[in-house]
Amino acid sequence: MEVDAGALRRNFRAVRASVGPSVGIVPMVKADAYGVGVREAVRALDAHEPWGYGVASVAEGIELRRLTERPVVVFTPIAPGELPAAIDADLRITVSDEATLVALGRAATDGASARFHAEIDSGMGRAGLDPRGIDSWGPALQAALAGGAVWEGVFTHLHSADDSPDTVDPQIALFESTLARLAPGPDVLRHALNSAGCFVRPGYAFQLVRPGIFLYGGRPGMESPEPDAVVSLRARVIRVKEARPGDTLGYGSTHVAERAERWATVAVGYGDGLPRALSNKGWGVVGGRRVPIIGRISMDVTVVDITGLPSVRPGQVVTFLGCDGQERVTLGEMADLAGTIGYEVLTGFTPRLPRIWELPVGP
Ligand SMILES: *Cc1c(COP(=O)(O)O)cnc(C)c1O
Repeated sequence: MEVDAGALRRNFRAVRASVGPSVGIVPMVKADAYGVGVREAVRALDAHEPWGYGVASVAEGIELRRLTERPVVVFTPIAPGELPAAIDADLRITVSDEATLVALGRAATDGASARFHAEIDSGMGRAGLDPRGIDSWGPALQAALAGGAVWEGVFTHLHSADDSPDTVDPQIALFESTLARLAPGPDVLRHALNSAGCFVRPGYAFQLVRPGIFLYGGRPGMESPEPDAVVSLRARVIRVKEARPGDTLGYGSTHVAERAERWATVAVGYGDGLPRALSNKGWGVVGGRRVPIIGRISMDVTVVDITGLPSVRPGQVVTFLGCDGQERVTLGEMADLAGTIGYEVLTGFTPRLPRIWELPVGP
């Protein structure tokens, strides 16, 4: 797995160009920076001065604390017992319910004041304070502030900005009407946009935006631009077989040679995160030519049909994601063929695949 730090930075700059220079950017680096490697991702992005970083869990936040001094926000609701560890690591936590507000107020009175971002549930449903319950949690929030908790941000999360941008306006309207009732001070940072939102509704950038997938080369919907490719997946041919008509291939013998065929066995499989759903469906590229994946993908190897390509030899590189010559397999194409999304493909690459970072010479 090759990761292009220059492309990661160019994608960051594309987000900045879309939302404008005064908006703070919070790259989402959860799940090991969508699988590319959080340490190197933070090193590459830090030069562009993001406002801070976003993670999913306290454990990820504690790891990130060692890599940056910028603010780190934990975006998934934390379990009750995790608050002391979060405060200790100076993580910003997300508040989704009244019980956490009460716990924050208590912790602050005990001298461990915590910064928090309040999440407003505008339709995502999985987390966030429900605007209909504001009469109950609104006073709890004020009590936490009176106790000494620090209100750093308030945000909502978009559910369909990628494939139905029309849903963004009503979500933002609900967010804004809730803000009007809450009346946070001018220092409380408002934020709403994920990658798709940064491109389809940049006018709703408020003070911060939270891009993820676009930075890592995933196109968040057809109305967004195509990001630069960040991740390539390549592996070497380890064997070439001259198959005769009737020869069977792989588990379940789902491919049978119909004529004389050449098969190349490549040293990558679903144990590395190459989606098994690409069996008999996906593509590799070798020497600038597309070659189909044939048979079932195994844990450690995958076979491609190189019939008509007599020059392919063991040792040659096959690209399953990324560019080779004029040919390119995008993350979107691979994910569509596998019946999933780019997020799942990227985070599915396993630790067995070395992450080889290509660091750019310039910015
Ligand atoms: C993951 C996440 C994002 C980033 O979403 P992308 O679609 O990858 O840009 C933004 N905000 C929150 C709260 C998230 O959990």
